[in-house]
Amino acid sequence: MKMIINLHNGMSDMSALHIQNLSKKFGQQNAVYDTSWQAKRGEIVCLLGHSGCGKTTMLRLIAGLESPSAGQIMFGDRILWSNTHHVAAEHRNIGLVFQDYALFPHLNVFENIKFGLNHFKREQQKQIADDVLKHVSLSQHATKYPHMLSGGEQQRIALARALAPKPDVLLMDEPFSNLDRRLRDRIRQDTLSILRDLGTTTIIVTHDPEEALHIADQIILMHEGQIIQSGTPQQLYETPNSLFAAEYFSAINQIPCVVNHNVLKSACGQLEFKSINPEQRVDQSTSPNANYLYCFRPYHVTLSVEPQNQDSIPVTVTSSDYLGHQMLVKVQIHSTSYIIHAQGIFHCPTHVGQALFMCIQPQQSFIFAKDSATP
Ligand code: ATP
Repeated sequence: MKMIINLHNGMSDMSALHIQNLSKKFGQQNAVYDTSWQAKRGEIVCLLGHSGCGKTTMLRLIAGLESPSAGQIMFGDRILWSNTHHVAAEHRNIGLVFQDYALFPHLNVFENIKFGLNHFKREQQKQIADDVLKHVSLSQHATKYPHMLSGGEQQRIALARALAPKPDVLLMDEPFSNLDRRLRDRIRQDTLSILRDLGTTTIIVTHDPEEALHIADQIILMHEGQIIQSGTPQQLYETPNSLFAAEYFSAINQIPCVVNHNVLKSACGQLEFKSINPEQRVDQSTSPNANYLYCFRPYHVTLSVEPQNQDSIPVTVTSSDYLGHQMLVKVQIHSTSYIIHAQGIFHCPTHVGQALFMCIQPQQSFIFAKDSATP
């Protein structure tokens, strides 16, 4: 076990961040609106969403850099903000890592890390800074200044500085977005293993769905200040609650369909309703015969020269793109104008004009009401 083990903050398993009905208005605009969610102790939570959806505002509210318009923020049974109770940012015991790392250029690495440790005794400060530097494997750079470090090293120093005061919660705003792809994968992996090792409750803002799927225990998907869906990466990817959530994680084929008497009819043929992903079945009792979209990811389409079963659909290839490890093949359903995207490794000819048969995995498909992008 590494020396840094003394960075554990000793909070009980009960401790967690509780966000209750939190809102923030800027003028007339709701940057965050009536959001409620929780982070368990030691959990890595990703706030995910497009630019302007309110992720950074949420982070700043938790940090105490903005005041909510309404709601409550708690850590365990400690109220950080409510209508009647406000804990100042410097007393929240929350660590922050910014996108640009915000290291002090005039302080060396060691001094940067010691900066937030004023409330510890002098000898403790040195011990903590030494420990945390070891943990991010940068002890040999202690006397260097930020401009003498690579982007990845600066990121790890920023992480070390935020972790040194033993925060109850670590907040990271797009921490990997300034790194090039290869470096990003490695630094992200290193960061994750440090956070998991320490059991630090961490909230990470990102707009990158792959990153969120890769690193999060829990994803909070936001849109226009509100939470669209929260859950594990699998829950969001495999059982999205809306077209918005489904589309956030990959391109989605969308075919208009009607559902009636337990049968789904679309240009992809007829399908027994019960074969669809059970989480995705619409309530027919409230809207019989209504129009829906039959949706499926390009990865859940298979192509073959011969029909694979009675549900195989005749198609013709309209384009075929080599992606290295996969192909993206677009096919047109016979006698319709619908173009379906199929992505994967296909063991059949995929040149333009090739006649093929397509199969869709019903268990991996979704059905959403038309004209309702969000739940
Ligand atoms: P990005 O990914 O681009 O950083 P975001 O999801 O983090 O976006 P926020 O920065 O939280 O979004 O902004 C949410 C909304 O609130 C935006 O429309 C933004 O313009 C607005 N906003 C944020 N801060 C302020 C402010 N200080 N004053 C006025 N409006 C603000």
